[in-house]
Amino acid sequence: MTNSAPSIAVVGAGPSGFYAVDALTRARPDARIDIIDRLPTPFGLARYGVAPDHQGTKGVTRQFDRLLAKPGVRFIGGVELGRDVSLDELRTTYDAVLIATGCGRDRKLGIPGEDLAGVMGSMRFVDWFNAHPDAVDLTATIAEARHVAVIGNGNVAIDVARVFAKTADEMAKSDIDPRAQAAIAAMPLETVTLYGRRGPAEASFTINELNEMGRLARAVALVDAAHVTDVTAPDSDPTPERLRKQKNIEAFRGFSANAPGAKPVALGFRFHRAPLVLGGENGRVVSINFADGSYAPADLVITCIGYDAILAEGLPVERGRVANDEGRVTGLPGVYVVGWARRGPSGTIPTNRADSFAVAERLVADLAPSSKKGPDGLDALLTARGVATIDTAGWQRIDKTESETGAREGRPRIKLATWQALRASARSAALP
Ligand code: NAP
Repeated sequence: MTNSAPSIAVVGAGPSGFYAVDALTRARPDARIDIIDRLPTPFGLARYGVAPDHQGTKGVTRQFDRLLAKPGVRFIGGVELGRDVSLDELRTTYDAVLIATGCGRDRKLGIPGEDLAGVMGSMRFVDWFNAHPDAVDLTATIAEARHVAVIGNGNVAIDVARVFAKTADEMAKSDIDPRAQAAIAAMPLETVTLYGRRGPAEASFTINELNEMGRLARAVALVDAAHVTDVTAPDSDPTPERLRKQKNIEAFRGFSANAPGAKPVALGFRFHRAPLVLGGENGRVVSINFADGSYAPADLVITCIGYDAILAEGLPVERGRVANDEGRVTGLPGVYVVGWARRGPSGTIPTNRADSFAVAERLVADLAPSSKKGPDGLDALLTARGVATIDTAGWQRIDKTESETGAREGRPRIKLATWQALRASARSAALP
């Protein structure tokens, strides 16, 4: 079969995948594009990663929804690469395949005690408070915790610490899972401490994130004054990165003047603390020993130290990512990769936009006249296998249900938290 309109499968409906679709539809408005995701809902980390109290960052999803309304663009949820369809089958069915599956696994610290109860990677915790349908309920795990240790000084670490430190009132306009919020509010929390293995200048927080930490209702931000003297004085013509660091140091200096005990929860920033051993009692974490010989109590430890990719069979792997040359997957003509699956877990949503645009441009330049079945071929294959998919209309039903439930509580949405609820909502009565 030949068709002048190219067919493209985008695997992964997160920001990187959608930005690629944006570029592809601009360059080839005639393209037939299927966005495949294993989840019943689109938007990946914009839905399940971005902190629930930072709704502004989630605003990109409105743009992605508009892409789903474009002719020729379909969302096909509930389809997992490697389980429901193989990479070879996608290559046979579409003129081009673009992998945008991100990173799906927490990195490990690799130190003794990491398997104790009360120790978990950030993805596990973030999935739970963001109502991911695969999340494990952590209510019992956090219920007795007084001392929360957050390992890492990246943006995820500060998101996690803030979600613990904020009150239910401060989260009222967020789309956090209400059950997770209730469980956090019920903790006998005394300290939330972020541990960086390097100094304050190396922390990748933004000044807005730090300022927010300085204004919390029940938590007082604290820094050891000794750690904010080790930074050079402001220079007169700083680079943006140096300026960010200088502003951060000023914020930390302000925190160092705060009085411990000023508010019920101590929100500590501790630097030069590389975890060495996690200590346990009765199988549960109780402490952290650091490389400098110091020690801290910790009955809940969330590691926020980055992620690794989970890659489907058939994709060449290099340093935990898809092996590629500027987005062209090594040894697989017609297959491309973008975002964290290509570069590793770095960069913000705008960084991934630029990356996806550049790779999409290469994909379009490589396209030969179409010779594949495209969407019809996938439909036939999935129907024959009995795979129950969720289409754009199904997602719109889920979206409507969640937004309406949220609106009744003054929230942007309350997410349906199980596969069953999501699938049922996707199948519910047609939209008006
Ligand atoms: P990240 O920015 O790479 O931070 C990882 C942190 O873990 C670093 O502080 C790192 O320390 C530390 N670390 C790594 N291995 C460690 C070890 N063995 N022991 C102790 N500490 C260790 O990763 P992330 O916070 O997961 O964020 C991932 C990406 O998402 C980033 O690009 C981030 O900007 C983005 N993101 C952005 C936002 C936002 O824009 N608001 C929000 C969330 C995430 P070193 O620096 O010493 O290596």
